[in-house]
Amino acid sequence: MLYAWIDGVKRPPIAKGERTTCRECGGVLTSVIPAKNVKHWRHKAGDCDRWSEPEGPWHLGWKEKFPEECREIGLYDETAGEWHRADVLCGANTPNATVLELQHSSISEQERMEREAFYSQKHRMFWLVHLHDETSFTGTNFRLSLGLGPRSATIDGYSFKIVHFASRSSQFIEKWKRSTAHVFFDYAGHIFFLAGEAVSRKANGGQPLKKGYFAYCQLTQEEFIRAVQSCG
Ligand SMILES: [Zn+2]
Repeated sequence: MLYAWIDGVKRPPIAKGERTTCRECGGVLTSVIPAKNVKHWRHKAGDCDRWSEPEGPWHLGWKEKFPEECREIGLYDETAGEWHRADVLCGANTPNATVLELQHSSISEQERMEREAFYSQKHRMFWLVHLHDETSFTGTNFRLSLGLGPRSATIDGYSFKIVHFASRSSQFIEKWKRSTAHVFFDYAGHIFFLAGEAVSRKANGGQPLKKGYFAYCQLTQEEFIRAVQSCG
């Protein structure tokens, strides 16, 4: 986790040896000040959010685009009796309360569904999936897809393109097409909304898209941030 409450302030650690407690589980947090990665807090006895993943500059950069009170919000799952930390939660306790999950590393379909089931109970849910080439060629595959014989459709004033995912395996794109949340991709700072099943059908003349095909709509970072904050 990048933020914790210490001496009445919610902030990242600034010095080695700092300690505080986790507001959610009450566990001890110690500061971690790596030479090459972002400063963060570590639960001494293991993170209370089992979905927690290592975070880097990409996570920090996106969290910083939202007000501090919206970053890393603990939510309790009463059924499972465990805490989860939404990366960003905007409009808490309003009808437009929105959870944004920032996904840099690959995630299994099982965990994707678990997180959606939990966060969607009381919130709209958005994913921002970072497409890059660190562990596979997802970033390159996506970039090459954008030029693959696009068909276009306008839905509710938004311009969608239908393309084929440029990879021998359609596993990645199919996994995200099946999401029940709103899925956005961040490729090199460019934001793309991935059409879910209903919108894909509309874009494709009423027919479901074939395996490996997807519909997307590009938007600016500002438009994406406004959508999360539901003011535009
Ligand atoms: Zn904790």
